[in-house]
Amino acid sequence: MKTVKDYIRTIVDFPHEGILFRDVTTLFADPRGFRMAIDQMLHPYAGMQIDKVVGLEARGFILGGAIAHQLSVGFVPVRKKGKLPGAVISEEYTLEYGEAIVEIHDDAIQAGEKILVVDDLLATGGTAEAGIKLIERLGGEIISCAFVIDLPDLGGRKRLEAMGMDVMALCA
Ligand code: AMP
Repeated sequence: MKTVKDYIRTIVDFPHEGILFRDVTTLFADPRGFRMAIDQMLHPYAGMQIDKVVGLEARGFILGGAIAHQLSVGFVPVRKKGKLPGAVISEEYTLEYGEAIVEIHDDAIQAGEKILVVDDLLATGGTAEAGIKLIERLGGEIISCAFVIDLPDLGGRKRLEAMGMDVMALCA
């Protein structure tokens, strides 16, 4: 039987030379692959209280939306600067080349709400760390951070675990 990893395609030298881009569109496009990924991402949290799912732009929206629907809880997007229409709070973080800013609506999470953070891939952990900081500034309590893929050589898991986070990934 195929595993989640079998549905993910690797594109060499995208978006820059030397990058092995893990393309999850082939996972999302397959009815068995997508369902398998969502079911496996939910499995560790069975019976746990989760009040909201926060998805990181952009592939975290696709996964996070499906997971929130399955849990019957709300979904909150963390977006790149300038995309959210209401009042926001922002976090700057470092990318391979330069800096980026992510934002969340300042009323999207209530203090004490239990949050599951979702994205497709954990690399350096910079994107997830910025999202975590936004959630914590609003008083959210992060239950776990769930990814399809963890690239352990890039140190993201260690970085998030050093912040006290629980980290779950389906494959490396
Ligand atoms: P990082 O902040 O370094 O952990 O990078 C994670 C974010 O960048 C995620 O939103 C991923 O979708 C994207 N990303 C980083 N590296 C890759 C890669 N090799 N393949 C696909 N997406 C990646």
